[in-house]
Amino acid sequence: MDIEKRIEELKALINKANYEYYTLDNPTISDYDYDMAMAELISLEEKYPHLKTKDSPTNRIGGEVLDKFQKVTHTREMKSLADLFSYDEILSYLDTTSKITKSVDYSMELKIDGLAVSLIYEKGYLTLASTRGDGITGEDITNNAKTISSIPLKLKEDIDIEVRGEIYLSKARFEKINKEREQNGEELFKNERNCAAGTMRQLDPEIVRKRGLDTFIYYIVDPEKYNLKTQSEALAFLKMLGFHVNPESKSVHSKEELLEYISDIDDKRYNYDYPIDGVVLKYEFFNMYSRIGETVKSPKWAIAYKFAPLEVKTKIESIEFQVGRTGCITPVANLTPVLISGSLVSRATLNNEDYILDKDIRIGDYVYVRKAAEIIPEVVSVIMEEREGKDLKPFEMIERCPKCGEPLLRRIGEADYFCLNDNCPARNVEQIIHFASRDAYDITGLGDKISEFLYNEGFVLRISDIFSLDNYAQVLLTKEGFKEKKVFSLIDSIENSKSNNLDRLIYGLGIRNVGKKVARILCEKYPSMDELINAKEEDISMIPDIGPIIASNVYSYFRDPKNIEMIDILKEKGLNMVYTSSKREDETIFTGKTVVLTGSLENFTRDEASTIIENMGGKTSGSVSKKTDYVLYGSEAGSKLTKAQSLGIKLITESDFMEMIKEN
Ligand code: NAD
Repeated sequence: MDIEKRIEELKALINKANYEYYTLDNPTISDYDYDMAMAELISLEEKYPHLKTKDSPTNRIGGEVLDKFQKVTHTREMKSLADLFSYDEILSYLDTTSKITKSVDYSMELKIDGLAVSLIYEKGYLTLASTRGDGITGEDITNNAKTISSIPLKLKEDIDIEVRGEIYLSKARFEKINKEREQNGEELFKNERNCAAGTMRQLDPEIVRKRGLDTFIYYIVDPEKYNLKTQSEALAFLKMLGFHVNPESKSVHSKEELLEYISDIDDKRYNYDYPIDGVVLKYEFFNMYSRIGETVKSPKWAIAYKFAPLEVKTKIESIEFQVGRTGCITPVANLTPVLISGSLVSRATLNNEDYILDKDIRIGDYVYVRKAAEIIPEVVSVIMEEREGKDLKPFEMIERCPKCGEPLLRRIGEADYFCLNDNCPARNVEQIIHFASRDAYDITGLGDKISEFLYNEGFVLRISDIFSLDNYAQVLLTKEGFKEKKVFSLIDSIENSKSNNLDRLIYGLGIRNVGKKVARILCEKYPSMDELINAKEEDISMIPDIGPIIASNVYSYFRDPKNIEMIDILKEKGLNMVYTSSKREDETIFTGKTVVLTGSLENFTRDEASTIIENMGGKTSGSVSKKTDYVLYGSEAGSKLTKAQSLGIKLITESDFMEMIKEN
């Protein structure tokens, strides 16, 4: 990529968007697209500082100041806020600031999507209201501000004070205004923020009065003059003076509490009657502000976390078909890469033929893509207006396996197509990859790429060949990239894996519908390979949590002579064929308890945490209910956490969890 060219493109895009947004109050791109372009420009300028010019929009606050109003020079600059887009970014921001502050004490506030206003009071009387403008100079909007009923003309105390806050329009008022405009054949406002900003720039205060704007005030210039030490005290003081202060702010004192607040607000962000686009974190203690510092554009003691839109627009470049280890064919869309919640997404699952046909997804379409926590990105819908005039071919499912060319089969009543060829190279490679994976036989060094290489070179054509790899060590050493250390540590880890518990082997075999948990349940009932091989189908189906479909799959798997032959080789090679129950006899803190996991943990995968809980006698469940005993939550935790809070269920952080394990 030509960096200079990209920087120029981004600057042009942002400057145009700024003009449309701040001057015309008529944006043509979404705030999210704007924020992503800005984030890209900031990161490029950080990486290539010699390419950052003085006129870069990353240095500028807001838009131009209109001539139709008197200009006002702010007593103190009205800055913007830097943005964070992911929990990881929040955590690293907290790490950086707490090096100075030595504490995580924040006033958490809603980020109201309106326009900033400064209000100056002398002896308790409103004397000047101004917009932020470019941060240094704003517009005098006193006459308009006086028509907003929540802006007090006279405070409850006769003091001199400058306060700042947000002028906004409620969703209900916005709808009403647009409905009237529609009836009058007038152009509609794009959103509440643009309507509010456009309204405040009306020369006729009567129009402003009729629109019914509102305010939330959240900042005092020089708060220490009023003996205030913290932002929370400042908010209480503002309320006492008669300002409209948002009731959702909260003082938090730990990272966990802070993230919990954010996830809670994120879950209910659409429930408020006013628009919000994120939350603002403000360090509580004013006496630290000068030490934490500011940049040209924004303070460092406060920062915004912007909510990701639920869905992001991108284009389907192509559709390819993946062949899984069971032969299941999954269509996957290759997308024009797009940032969602801070990570670049370039592929999304299209699930199956019906899913694509239902949504009429075609190559070349613009679509909305969603990546909710824990879910692989998926295409939500096609933007049909973008298809107009284009000749895009309707989707057609392939009829043959893209890897081996054998015909595919879709069984009656199922949505997926399968390649039934046992010798299909794609299936075989996937089986080997699955077998060696961390959750299955956990063979360090045998990842996707090496498995594929060993397969293509003919060293490992099926699972049992893995255990003969030591015979080929010398040949492997002649291959490019296979140094002694790599080869011998792979052979060592293969050797060491042989003592794995039986459930890992059963899971690794890749029997249809036999996941990790089912493998363990089977082993609890049949604690040796031979017992499982000889189990009757009806007996298997009697095991709690195992239905007839799984029973039939397990039974059939062991009726296939090829599979039995492979298991015999594995036995010969010395793999452990008995199960040691990892259930503990003694009581632990999780014995008989139900735990729900949510969000991502740093030190464990979900499966690892579940295994630990189960080994300690507990159960994990996918949903929160009154029967849940604990909710173990990590970063990006969402609605499950909120629900648990509302039900008063005990919440445990990852560090609590680690303590609990240690103690038990
Ligand atoms: P910002 O909106 O990201 O954040 C700063 C502002 O947040 C403050 O100035 C203040 O007005 C407001 N705010 C709301 N609640 C607050 C609270 N509780 N405490 C403190 N401040 C609070 O920054 P900005 O400079 O005002 O505007 C930039 C943003 O505007 C962009 O990130 C983008 O979302 C949007 N924008 C969009 C377009 C477009 O074309 N779509 C163009 C330009 C800007």
